[in-house]
Amino acid sequence: MGRVYNFSAGPAVLPESVLREAAEEMLDYKGSGMSVMEMSHRSKVYDGIIKEAEADLRKLMNIPDNYKVLFLQGGASLLFATVPMNLMKNKKAGYILTGQWAKKAYQEAKIYGEAVELASSADETFSYIPDCSDLPITDDMDYVYICENNTIYGTKFWTLPDTKGKILVADQSSCFLSEPVDVTKYGMIYAGVQKNVGPAGVQVVIIREDLISDDVLPGTPTMMKLKTHADNDSLYNTPPCYGIYICGKVFKWILDMGGLEAMKAHNEKKAKILYDYLDSSKLFKGTVRKEDRSLMNVPFVTGNEELDAKFVKEATEAGFVNLKGHRTVGGMRASIYNAMPIEGVEKLVEFMKKFEETNA
Ligand SMILES: *Cc1c(COP(=O)(O)O)cnc(C)c1O
Repeated sequence: MGRVYNFSAGPAVLPESVLREAAEEMLDYKGSGMSVMEMSHRSKVYDGIIKEAEADLRKLMNIPDNYKVLFLQGGASLLFATVPMNLMKNKKAGYILTGQWAKKAYQEAKIYGEAVELASSADETFSYIPDCSDLPITDDMDYVYICENNTIYGTKFWTLPDTKGKILVADQSSCFLSEPVDVTKYGMIYAGVQKNVGPAGVQVVIIREDLISDDVLPGTPTMMKLKTHADNDSLYNTPPCYGIYICGKVFKWILDMGGLEAMKAHNEKKAKILYDYLDSSKLFKGTVRKEDRSLMNVPFVTGNEELDAKFVKEATEAGFVNLKGHRTVGGMRASIYNAMPIEGVEKLVEFMKKFEETNA
């Protein structure tokens, strides 16, 4: 049985070479006589794995020394609470609502303080990024929050909001390591790795050191205090060891591909093939404002639900899987993360063209 072209939004496609390497090391990791899954997280061997993963990520993203890198667990969704618990000192923060993940983070923050809607694109089903050049940010806000790439709707902030001096917190789950990022523009970046980097169960947090403190909201669990993990180099308790090991391999794969500049070029090339076709097609069309299009998640529709379903079914049979749009929006969505090869997108477009010819 061969591998399919997997357009899943997450958990998603991983580089085949990484999977092969992991398979080779499954029973005996580099002469240790055991799998990484069976290894103590306090062992020297594992210490090497997690330290190397962090070092490679720092190299890839050019992370300054005054930022901590943490490997956490609980899903990106747990961070919706971790963020206010750790950063909402004045119990007030601004949120930009560009989709469901941003909305969920906003609703979670409301449990802990005053979460203010600064801007929203809900009026047009989140098909664009609102103008964030002059937001109603007040002095007492602790941070401004964005979901940088909107996995479900397929939009991306190509210009970061003017936060008027407030720190920016960004959920980068679905664009993490897809392009170079200037880390200094953020107070905190976080990402669930199952979209672009590794197996579900790991979240990477990159946070400016001065934002980590004991001054958290009352009642914050020890495990949700970022200082707990920062003080213990992500080894306060048992981390998701195997997941971090795979992330480390993906970091190396990206370094071997030429780093984030090369990754961006690769992703732009892939996305262009698909968007160019969508723009010329008489059957399919993209659902997002052109200037806000994501390079990672590409939603599209035929305008006819039955035809959408027929397309998804026939595509699946042809080996292009997980193209069904999110259950809340319908249509189709092709997630074309880092590890999706160019041929995957080229062949998908060929298939779409044929489908268009026979269903015109
Ligand atoms: C998938 C996703 C999440 C939720 O991740 P979980 O790990 O399932 O909690 C949050 N934000 C974004 C942008 C996502 O794509």
